[in-house]
Amino acid sequence: MNPTSPARVRRSLAQICDTFVPGSHGRPSAGQLGVPDAFLEVAATNLRSAERRQLEVLLSLWDTRALTAAGGGGFRRFRDLSQGEREAVLVSWCDSRLAPRRAAFQALRKAATALAYMLPASDGRNPAWDAMGYPGPPGRTADPAPKEIQPHVVDRETTLDCDVCVVGSGAGGGTAAAVLADTGLDVVVVEAGDYLDDGDFHGSEVEGYSRLYLGAAALATADQSVGLYAGACLGGGTVVNFTTAFRTPDEIRAEWAGHGVGALASDDYTASLDAVWDRLGVTTDHSRPSRREQVMEQGLDALGWHADRMPRNVSGCDEAVCGFSPFGCLAGAKQSTTKTWLVDAWRRGARILVNTRAERVMVEHGRAKGVRARTRQGHQVTVRARAVMVAAGAIHTPALLRRSGLENRNIGRHLRLHPVTGVAGVFEEEIRPWEGVMQAVYSDELADLHAGFGMKLESAPFHPSVLATYAPWRSARQHEELMGRLAHLVPIGLLLRDSSEGEVRTGRDGEPVVHYRLNDFDIGHVRTGLDGAARVLEAAGATSVFSAHKDWVTYQPGRGRAREGFLEAADRCGWGAGQCVFTSFHLMGSARMGASPSTSACNPEGETWDARGVYVCDGSTFPSASGVNPMVTIEAIAHLNASRLAQVLAPARS
Ligand SMILES: Cc1cc2nc3c(=O)[nH]c(=O)nc-3n(C[C@H](O)[C@H](O)[C@H](O)COP(=O)(O)OP(=O)(O)OC[C@H]3O[C@@H](n4cnc5c(N)ncnc54)[C@H](O)[C@@H]3O)c2cc1C
Repeated sequence: MNPTSPARVRRSLAQICDTFVPGSHGRPSAGQLGVPDAFLEVAATNLRSAERRQLEVLLSLWDTRALTAAGGGGFRRFRDLSQGEREAVLVSWCDSRLAPRRAAFQALRKAATALAYMLPASDGRNPAWDAMGYPGPPGRTADPAPKEIQPHVVDRETTLDCDVCVVGSGAGGGTAAAVLADTGLDVVVVEAGDYLDDGDFHGSEVEGYSRLYLGAAALATADQSVGLYAGACLGGGTVVNFTTAFRTPDEIRAEWAGHGVGALASDDYTASLDAVWDRLGVTTDHSRPSRREQVMEQGLDALGWHADRMPRNVSGCDEAVCGFSPFGCLAGAKQSTTKTWLVDAWRRGARILVNTRAERVMVEHGRAKGVRARTRQGHQVTVRARAVMVAAGAIHTPALLRRSGLENRNIGRHLRLHPVTGVAGVFEEEIRPWEGVMQAVYSDELADLHAGFGMKLESAPFHPSVLATYAPWRSARQHEELMGRLAHLVPIGLLLRDSSEGEVRTGRDGEPVVHYRLNDFDIGHVRTGLDGAARVLEAAGATSVFSAHKDWVTYQPGRGRAREGFLEAADRCGWGAGQCVFTSFHLMGSARMGASPSTSACNPEGETWDARGVYVCDGSTFPSASGVNPMVTIEAIAHLNASRLAQVLAPARS
């Protein structure tokens, strides 16, 4: 018998999913909802082959007596255990001293529970939503604006010639393409993802993740310690992001000048920031806090803590649907690069290829020659270019550079993630935390705890999948009860400015594998943030508060030293991989600019030290973590470096 037979794999997965979500109150189990098949589909299309193999081996062994015994379930098969006994086995994996076991548990838990609360039944609605008071996706806009860009169609093996090939079309690539095309340079943009716009969006979590997010939003560091979120469509992260727009703080600019990138403290960079600000139409006109954020602000005010309005890059935001914009903006208000820079680039003649993945940058005799890419249909595309701007995001940029033969040891290193963990308060009042604008309020009260490191307190739309991601699972019943309280929760995210550094390594298959570990300095700040967020929620009137730890770490305000006990329980549970849930929405620094090849992957203009004419212009370029939400900074750096490249290339054209 094939030990990893698909039937055996699927059967074990179904048993596990049904243990996480067995169904109750007449609602179907995860298996009945189709979670195992959806899970396997995500794995088939998004996991690297080595990861898929690991999953298959684990699931093949899952229903053996030996593995059940190792999980404390006795020498029996998992399938023969009662629900309670199965739960005990899963909890033993969750609590294991072995990090790989905890990682396996967390990967299974997140996928199984999130899918169980996202997947629609035959009537198009998830059976749990009604009980949770969750309305489900608003559906497609009745009269969407037509798409403005016509992508360049490739339906056979093709060679294109241009001045600059831009790889990736997110914050960095989109901006660079516009700046370069605006100077009259011939630009080709190569984007791996699809072009989706207002009329394609539906507001559904499951559809949004699978069509718009890298790895269908199931990506994580190798040890599952941090979930990694990024856009993977035309416009990249700017299509799915929360539209919070902060200028690069002066202290950070000074710090980066100290890393040898003096231009980032210059007037030229200020001019680039201004240009980005104007093009994105950033204002606070559409920053009316949702009920979720009003409550957070109430708590901040009660403590006398800093609170302010988020500047946002939206034009005519519709509060009724804005909370669903992480799955594509239904109102067409989000000023993503597909609404701004890419339209500018296309109007100036740039050719934009979608569903086309760059496989390698062509480098000859230390100089860029272009890009070798492949369409989703399998057609090879060769783009011959005088320069290449790589903007594939901080996970794929270093992998692409490595696949292209670049050897500088800093490629992939110095990755920063702004890891986010959360604390949530339960309120008697119905909050409906998925409603209102995505983000409108933040606090910098804890932003500078030591030497410029600390965290921003922010909040974001809380949909079922988001709660499922952060929520502890100790038993099916406890989890179901918690999910049922979604409408009454106020989450506060701790967005850490990290001094910890991770690394994007490139596997033998040429694909990225992300490694990251929080250092003690940063964990100290997270602890302070946990306590701080709990204080805010307490001051706002929360009846109970809980964290995103693997254990059910919670307390009820007003009982003696309850909050101190909360922090102690969090410490007992731990802060490492599989002990506390962290996610990242800000991927930075993995091909950083700097003064020397011994400390950085690129020179201060963003050109790689290894190959002339190969530039990086995305979040990878940051010398360290920006400390603020990075979109505007990425666009401003791309604006500056593309402007300088245009000057270099322009004389040679005339
Ligand atoms: C849910 C979410 C919310 C966020 N909210 C905010 C916010 O409110 N404010 C803020 O400032 N920031 C926010 N961010 C972060 C911000 O959106 C990102 O930092 C930013 O988009 C990153 O820009 P980038 O150019 O580095 O990469 P991306 O925007 O990720 O673009 C990279 C592009 O490259 C493409 N690509 C990858 N590999 C290849 C290849 N081999 N060939 C061709 N194309 C390739 C990808 O498909 C993608 O489109 C958020 C991010 C997420 C995920």
